[in-house]
Amino acid sequence: MGLIVQKYGGTSVGTTERIAQVAQRVAGYQARGHQVVVVVSAMSGETNRLVAMGRELGGDRPSAREMDVLTSSGEQVTVALLSIALLELGLTAKSYLADQIRFRTDSAHGRARIEQIEVEKLRQDIDQGVIPVVAGFQGVNDQGDITTLGRGGSDTSAVALAAALSADECEICTDVEGVYTTDPRIVEGARRLSQITFEEMLELASLGSKVLHPRSVEFAGRYRVPLRVMSTFIPGPGTLITLESETMEQAEVSGIAHAVDEAKITVAGVPDVPGIASKILGPVGAKSIEVDMIVQNTGVDGMTDFTFTVKRQDYDTTLDLLKEVAADISARTVTGDNAIAKVSIVGVGMRSHAGVATKVFDRLATENINIQMISTSEIKISVVIAERYVELAVRALHDAFNLHQEPA
Ligand code: ASP
Ligand code: MG
Repeated sequence: MGLIVQKYGGTSVGTTERIAQVAQRVAGYQARGHQVVVVVSAMSGETNRLVAMGRELGGDRPSAREMDVLTSSGEQVTVALLSIALLELGLTAKSYLADQIRFRTDSAHGRARIEQIEVEKLRQDIDQGVIPVVAGFQGVNDQGDITTLGRGGSDTSAVALAAALSADECEICTDVEGVYTTDPRIVEGARRLSQITFEEMLELASLGSKVLHPRSVEFAGRYRVPLRVMSTFIPGPGTLITLESETMEQAEVSGIAHAVDEAKITVAGVPDVPGIASKILGPVGAKSIEVDMIVQNTGVDGMTDFTFTVKRQDYDTTLDLLKEVAADISARTVTGDNAIAKVSIVGVGMRSHAGVATKVFDRLATENINIQMISTSEIKISVVIAERYVELAVRALHDAFNLHQEPA
């Protein structure tokens, strides 16, 4: 028993039948003595549909303020529908939009950050047995304008609300049964993890595993909100994302993520002098293009090569930009490749197990997969390879680290 914040994603509320089933599920929790606060996302496909309409009329860059008014409407529909379904079951429920409870954010439309949540109203409801149903994804700035937290942001709404209410747990109820060792669509033997640490989950989420919005994990870690990813319709314990504990499975590797929306750019034959990295990456940053991996070779004869990766959608712009820069710094060539992928293995166990990197490189060599770039941190190893090998690499590494098996 205790206070639980539950978030239902788009597929869980994708039809009125499903919304009725979600209402039953919520009712079950209340019947078992829990206090529940619900956060919902828009019906699946709805946010995309709204974005497409906005772009149809507003071109590539429609007004960000108006896009937030538009896209936040998807969640207005689902909070009302779920509340109606709960009332129909004889429960007391009440829908809330962001400005009704004051879910305060900054003014960065389309990617707003949460600043403060006023929870008094929700507390009163909870105390009186009312189930608050709160719109995810949306916020309100101090001018009273509607903002949104970015695509997938309702996970973050739920975690932030759980933190503000000091809830006992935040459940992300979705269409998968938890967090898997890797994408089950690629590896048949992918296994649901019973637990994973915030640190690992944060790496996995930002390295391409799409189960959770990375910011929600960051939030949960910072405010120590126990977070559980579970299926809405298939019963099961899901995956608990938590602080590292002594009793946790201590595998070398916990999971493998992959991302295929990557591209790399190489500036070759650059004079090896101070200020080069800043001259190359400065203009890229100025265009708000996010750079991921960066590799600079040791200089030979006063010259060096410089390679970095960006999101594939930014490839053309970056390449054009770098061609100008190259002339400026008298680099020899600028080349690129947008058919690459990044495969990453993640695990806090790497801290205590030696030889994890060697095992990765050996196995990829056995599979004849060429590694183009490598980057490591304390708990992850990422390699860039040709996109056509991504599934092979993920399968091979899943096998190399025995991830289909429960660690002893
Ligand atoms: N409905 C929003 C989206 O599709 C927020 C979310 O689903 O988390 O991005
Ligand atoms: Mg989502």
